[in-house]
Amino acid sequence: MLLITCPWCGPRAHIEFTYGGDATVDRPADPDAVSAEEWLDHVYIRDNPRGPHNEWWQHTSGCRSWIKVKRDTWTHRVHGSGPPGSDLGEDEHR
Ligand SMILES: [Zn+2]
Repeated sequence: MLLITCPWCGPRAHIEFTYGGDATVDRPADPDAVSAEEWLDHVYIRDNPRGPHNEWWQHTSGCRSWIKVKRDTWTHRVHGSGPPGSDLGEDEHR
């Protein structure tokens, strides 16, 4: 079981959360200036990192807030979590 700390509710079992995707990908600043191929890359193309990785999670069975979690994709150890604007450090891929 993973233990994820929601910044508002405290430590909770991971089954209270829903994975929301890669938190290292930024939405294009000017969506109208992006080609269809660039949108395809932004929406669908992802790295498959091994190691500590920043991810979005939603506390769906709690406060329903979105949070950022730094989780090791290899060991599943949670290195930290915080509100959406928090800086959990860079990914540390192996
Ligand atoms: Zn919460």
